[in-house]
Amino acid sequence: MKVEERLIQYCKMATASDPRTKTVPSTPGQTALAQLLVEQLKALGVTDAHRDEFGVVYGTIAANVDKKTDVIGLIAHMDTSPEFSGEQVKPRILREYDGKDIELNPEVTLQVSEFPGMQRFIGKDLIVTDGTTLLGADDKAGIAEIMTVVEYLFEHPEVPHGTIKIAFTPDEEIGEGADHFDVAKFHADYAFTLDGGAPEEYCLETFNAATAVVKITGKSIHPGSAKNVMINALNVAMEFHQCLPVQQRPEYTEGFEGFNHLHELTGATESARMEYIIRNHDATQFERQIALFDQAAQFLNAKYGQPLVRVSIERSYRNMKEILIQHPKIIELMRSSIEELGMTPRSSSARGGTDGSRLTFMGLPCPNLGTGGANCHGRYEVACIQEMEMMVQLLLKMIEKIVHGAHF
Ligand SMILES: [Zn+2]
Repeated sequence: MKVEERLIQYCKMATASDPRTKTVPSTPGQTALAQLLVEQLKALGVTDAHRDEFGVVYGTIAANVDKKTDVIGLIAHMDTSPEFSGEQVKPRILREYDGKDIELNPEVTLQVSEFPGMQRFIGKDLIVTDGTTLLGADDKAGIAEIMTVVEYLFEHPEVPHGTIKIAFTPDEEIGEGADHFDVAKFHADYAFTLDGGAPEEYCLETFNAATAVVKITGKSIHPGSAKNVMINALNVAMEFHQCLPVQQRPEYTEGFEGFNHLHELTGATESARMEYIIRNHDATQFERQIALFDQAAQFLNAKYGQPLVRVSIERSYRNMKEILIQHPKIIELMRSSIEELGMTPRSSSARGGTDGSRLTFMGLPCPNLGTGGANCHGRYEVACIQEMEMMVQLLLKMIEKIVHGAHF
């Protein structure tokens, strides 16, 4: 089965995750895809393929060489973003893209002026949506590539390789992909998530991430007799927000600039609640941002002479670079493999997290590689067939280098 045929098959299955269901996995569509993947893995020869009680798919390709080699893991996620519909996806192949705007349907056109990154696909074949759903190449392109590698290795037993571990995770898009991942059972020396963009890009960096919940207690009274008594929690909430640096809002940041994003504000005179996400690649600056939340609360409490504002911080994940730079061998493996395929390796930093950032801190060093997809989480999502094929080649190249002695 060709890599694009696999992608199209997987994309047609609706697997959006859902942060509200509180089930594991969060949606039944993911279980259906997991079951299909287990069947396909078994049919290809992965005898131990199974889906565990948390919906994670695991499988092993046993080594076919005697010598001891590094055990690598290949990981992709099965869910698609709940931010946009993934129901009844109708993928379409567009051959030899000419670099112009793409009419997805009579009402929806992908405009190159909005997506300048499309230039990289000129002359190549694309898979696009019908403009009503996302595509799901994030991350089913990654799954399709890993499955194609599995198929290749079983069809070519003459190709020597060490032990390769496979895993497909649910609920990555709602931040729960690594929650139930069994690092000890997976038992790889290091792994790669395939969940990025262009094949020459590898990613060692994620944000450091936290959530801040700010609770404000006001004092409600009839506005006609409010003088010197009323404390309007909504006004205090606005004051709190104004205490934070304006230039650290997401709409003013890019690259390595961190942000505080107020994404929920509810309340009335009596009480208010604000929820922020705090992000920064740099651990020191990240801590400074968190400290400002506490300082803003202290300032307002001092100003009003009573403890109106309470801040609670929950840390979610850390920048995996902290750990990955201690493993130059893994970085060199990616870089040299990309180079040997005629590309110029490019290190990118995720302005988000990956399953890999959590796994890295759980003891499984796990940088992120590309998939050949772009414009994810919406109707303009595309996948490039040649780039997907390149990703298959890249994985095979890394597998080859590992078996030939780990001197990358
Ligand atoms: Zn993804």
